[in-house]
Amino acid sequence: MKRTALIIASVLVVLMAAAQAYSPARVPDVHRADRTAFVADPAHVLSPRATSRLNASLDSLRRNLTVEPMIAVLPAIEDPDDPSEFATDLFELWGLGKSDRDNGLLILVVMDTRKVTIRPGYGLEGALPDITCGRIIRDVIAPQFREGDYDAGLLNAVAVISRILSDPDTADEYRSGASDADYSSGDDAGDVGFKVWIYAACIVALLFLLILFAELYSVRGYDDFRKYTRLVRLRNIYLIFSALGLGIPLVATIPLILLLQHWRNRPRMCPNCGTRMHKLDEATDNRYLTPAQDLEERIGSVDYDVWLCPSCSETDIYPYPISSSPYTECPNCHARTYYKERDRVLRQPTATTAGMGVTEYRCVNCNHTDGKRYTIPATGAAAAAAAAAILNSGRGGGFSGGGFSGGGFGGGHTGGGGATGGW
Ligand SMILES: [Zn+2]
Ligand SMILES: [Zn+2]
Repeated sequence: MKRTALIIASVLVVLMAAAQAYSPARVPDVHRADRTAFVADPAHVLSPRATSRLNASLDSLRRNLTVEPMIAVLPAIEDPDDPSEFATDLFELWGLGKSDRDNGLLILVVMDTRKVTIRPGYGLEGALPDITCGRIIRDVIAPQFREGDYDAGLLNAVAVISRILSDPDTADEYRSGASDADYSSGDDAGDVGFKVWIYAACIVALLFLLILFAELYSVRGYDDFRKYTRLVRLRNIYLIFSALGLGIPLVATIPLILLLQHWRNRPRMCPNCGTRMHKLDEATDNRYLTPAQDLEERIGSVDYDVWLCPSCSETDIYPYPISSSPYTECPNCHARTYYKERDRVLRQPTATTAGMGVTEYRCVNCNHTDGKRYTIPATGAAAAAAAAAILNSGRGGGFSGGGFSGGGFGGGHTGGGGATGGW
């Protein structure tokens, strides 16, 4: 019984999906019904406000340039693999464009497969060649659609198309403009990129502040040394992102660095007699270090702070590992004096068999050595992987052509030019 219900439910879902899939003939011919309507959006993907703005823009295109434009936004189409063919059929069915000029223009958006097609009539292919249509889809429509802003994507695309059609210079720019930075919808794309960068930097800064507060909360009650050790891990990443983020993340980085300095240099009280201790300078603190600690300082793997009590001569030694040092902790003597001495190939890989290598480590304090073996993949596999990557990167996007016949609007034709692209 439950199973029957399930089958009925799935059949219903399939039927509903099929009902949503449009054939060209089923797309409402809104312009035939209302001469001021240029947007067929049966599923109401666009806001009413955007639809009326698009209608106004497209109407002025029609009046000023005699272009006959239409936009169709459909949930799904019958042959989802071929939106280009569908666009051609719809274009011909509606007969977009004056028959003597073939100046129709169709923008088809298919929601379920996330595909946009811009299909100009023969007469507009000079101003809107395939490459231009492709770039409008890729640079103007797709970025907005990916954000879910279908209104802005189409409004911007229509604005760009209007500019291209009304200004031959703009058309040239769009045809020959070699760099992607040349365009978006009106604003300079470089400007937009910069704004996005600043926006991202602000988010990073905010995130860094939150992390800083969370860390401070988690180390409350710790002594200065443990606070330092815990939060110093943030320092490099904060510095790197401050540089990348135009200095904006400094709002978190500067407090972090000031806190670290504070925890490292704040005078300690002698645990023995309670007197205020002194931090010794680098030259005089060496006397209080063990030979291994001294070696660590000399090779730059650890920086030691030595605090001395002037009254009872008690010393406190604090190690501050230097993260940029290539030395790591020796598994034998536990000093930070262990390093990767070299990599050696033991057996060269061939096209079909894997090779073998060894990484050799040595400790400069106790002379402990060790080797870690690793396999080197067969060269044939690497070549195959590289080839597969190239093949994959070539897929998707693509342009396609279509057929033509006659029809209603002004009886214009399309040669199937234009472009289809995903978002
Ligand atoms: Zn003391
Ligand atoms: Zn060692």
